[in-house]
Amino acid sequence: MISDYTPVSGFELPRFAGIPTFMRLPYVPLEDPRLTEVEIGLIGIPWDSGTTNRAGPRHGPRQLRDLSTMIRAEHGATGVRPFEAARCADLGDVGPNPADILDSMDRITRFYAAVKDAGIRPLTAGGDHLCSLPVLRALAADRPLGMIHFDSHTDLFHSYFGGTMYTHGTPFRRAVEEDLLDPRRVVQIGIRGTAYDREDRDFARAVGIRVIAIEELFARGIADVMAEAREIAGTGDTYVSYDIDFVDPAFAPGTGTPEVGGPNSFQALQVVRELTGVRIVGADLVEVSPPFDTSGGTAFLGASILFEILCQMVQVPAAAPAGA
Ligand code: MN
Ligand code: MN
Repeated sequence: MISDYTPVSGFELPRFAGIPTFMRLPYVPLEDPRLTEVEIGLIGIPWDSGTTNRAGPRHGPRQLRDLSTMIRAEHGATGVRPFEAARCADLGDVGPNPADILDSMDRITRFYAAVKDAGIRPLTAGGDHLCSLPVLRALAADRPLGMIHFDSHTDLFHSYFGGTMYTHGTPFRRAVEEDLLDPRRVVQIGIRGTAYDREDRDFARAVGIRVIAIEELFARGIADVMAEAREIAGTGDTYVSYDIDFVDPAFAPGTGTPEVGGPNSFQALQVVRELTGVRIVGADLVEVSPPFDTSGGTAFLGASILFEILCQMVQVPAAAPAGA
């Protein structure tokens, strides 16, 4: 059965040829009867209506699919062969309504509710970071999740422009308010850059979210910080959200809100390799913006991060232990 979910080999069809699904996996849309067999679904959300400055992540999924054809069968360092460990498929894109944020969020939540009902764990390619909120509305409908969040921003602001509640700077504030995240099981890593104020940090402190600034990450080292992150997430169901602007813009310039002084591309992968044992029920990689990614290098890094996350997801046991 699993052989039906093996990516097209570059020795069968060169990797520059064919229709580029995520990692050359089979395309299984929600209405396909094979959906019941899929364990991990890669999904695109081509939507950036939450972007407040430099737009473009709506073009992310298509570019990430294209560059993900560079991914091969086996992880170079760990030897994990994710496509043999779990049945993975490209479930296609959620079609947004680019002119209506609330309608788009409803469409995304409905799509992910169907994915969850089918017993599939989603791995999402955004889209801007507002994508995470409607996904969490589906995945966390029955209980709040923990979250390990890589970003140079907290995305915990209350509102923009005098009361706009839904932007890519507010998703996790809403998620805490809506009881989709358990703030005591949330850790944000890599935070840096200039700010208008510290309202987001004050909120984090008030609700018990652990914010680890880039200075602390570099001072302590990745292994030590990620050990703390695993402890914060604990043994319960956890979401992983990865904003590509976590990475230094020298390595990931193709994003809307870059912040200098960040991790290099190796460190960008290393933090994911430290997620072993985390019960990942869903994950996303957001904010890749092809209009600012003239070399395609940011999308290639994004596709590589998606592969790293996938290699962790296939090692997660299917069901949470009682009481977790
Ligand atoms: Mn973000
Ligand atoms: Mn960010």
